[in-house]
Amino acid sequence: MTTVPQFQLHVEGEWRNALTGETFSRLNPANGELVATYQRAGKDDVDCAVQAARRAFDLGGWPDRSGNERGQVLRRCAQLLEQQREALARQESLESGMRLEVARMEVGWSIEVFEHFAVVARGLAGRFYPLSPQSAGLVLHEPRGVAGLITPWNFPLSQLTWKVVPALAAGCTVVAKPSSLAPGTTLMLAEILAEAGVSAGVYNVITGPGASAGQALVEHPGVDLISLTGDNETGQQVMRAAAGQTKRLALELGGKSANIVFADADLDKAADFAAGAIFNRCGQVCTAGSRLLVQRSIHDELLARVVAAAHSYRVGDPLDPETQMEPLVSEAQLQTVLTFVQQGIQEGARLVAGGQRLTGAGYERGWYVAPTVFDQVLPGMAIAREEIFGPVLSVLTFDDEADAVRQANATRYGLAGAVWTADLARALRVARAVHAGTFWINQYGTIEMELPFGGFKQSGFGRELGSEAMWEYTEPKSIHVRM
Ligand code: NAD
Repeated sequence: MTTVPQFQLHVEGEWRNALTGETFSRLNPANGELVATYQRAGKDDVDCAVQAARRAFDLGGWPDRSGNERGQVLRRCAQLLEQQREALARQESLESGMRLEVARMEVGWSIEVFEHFAVVARGLAGRFYPLSPQSAGLVLHEPRGVAGLITPWNFPLSQLTWKVVPALAAGCTVVAKPSSLAPGTTLMLAEILAEAGVSAGVYNVITGPGASAGQALVEHPGVDLISLTGDNETGQQVMRAAAGQTKRLALELGGKSANIVFADADLDKAADFAAGAIFNRCGQVCTAGSRLLVQRSIHDELLARVVAAAHSYRVGDPLDPETQMEPLVSEAQLQTVLTFVQQGIQEGARLVAGGQRLTGAGYERGWYVAPTVFDQVLPGMAIAREEIFGPVLSVLTFDDEADAVRQANATRYGLAGAVWTADLARALRVARAVHAGTFWINQYGTIEMELPFGGFKQSGFGRELGSEAMWEYTEPKSIHVRM
């Protein structure tokens, strides 16, 4: 009999049970089996974790180290992560339903994040202004303090590293609060950071519901900033909770990205990526290409290819290397997706692939849904406006460039988008005209460490990756010197 991991909270370098005495568990979304149990932190647990991070910051061990020293620790973390790749990937897959193959890649992306910010930490420089023979000015980038980091379940480890690693690089200390649907790797990271030389109290982890543990973290006066990745409603709740203390926030929220295909595009490639942009990770990706905008003259041809791709996806067990699309993360997510499908049908869109829960052999105990495509979608329909966070593609048609841009921008979101065309001048015009933080030309979904990531409009504010991520975790300080 295999034993199920029983995770504890990680506070000031120690593993401990929650003061509430309560626990919760996670069932595998692919088969309903128990994956692990975790501690349900209450307000007092959050307070202990924040006090620990506060001491670690205020006593100055970590923030006072040079950028070079912090960078060396981050580089060691990258090496240790590599050694733990399989264990981390497995945990991630069992909890979140992610295909194991993708989970292995995800650990690889996380390693890259450590390597990237190891370099950034070393280069964290200030400015010096010789103002007159008797005076000078210095601009320094000071660590902001204790960072509260609240993360989602869709890419639990990499979304966490996008926050923790620049925070540590900047000299901040951290209290992390992962999603209750996939907290394991956030806890496993604690051992890795400690072994690499991150001292006790610098990285603390609490687990528990967002509405209680998460909110207590946001409201705690010992926390200097909150960085959240989550849905828009959560973002608004966090803004309200933080308002009383004028707390610094970075919010990475939802998206409804437009993937625009012009008639002169390479249609095989465009169709292939259009399917991948919505069916990879079962559509549970903030940058999912959930709106496919197709030029009218190629509509039938492109749609046929995308529908064929949807029918060809092998949906199944995330641990099976043959699987191309995994289950949804939870029953609630399945119900959300099916409700949107019904709304699409009622509002007059044409369902041309999928639309149903998958049943039968292999699907009995998991939250499986078929890759779904709607044609003849109009901009006002719910399936064109709302982030479904499932494998549901809405196909819309446009006439010319201006129409494509207008439709792409007809959303409250502004996270990402793409354009497919052989005309590079047009591609660049469209890329500039669409209001989104990330835009791809003749590709979809690539993320590079050097390029900042974040939203326009209601997709949030603040940036991750690049060197811009350091803006969230450092505060400029001006020093006027009289010699
Ligand atoms: P969610 O908003 O339900 O939860 C995110 C985190 O916030 C969890 O840890 C949760 O416990 C916590 N939380 C919930 N309510 C809270 C509150 N009142 N106060 C403090 N914390 C609270 O989101 P999810 O379902 O885990 O993730 C899916 C969402 O995340 C989607 O909307 C997706 O678009 C978004 N997302 C965005 C990005 C991005 O980079 N922009 C990346 C991944 C996911």
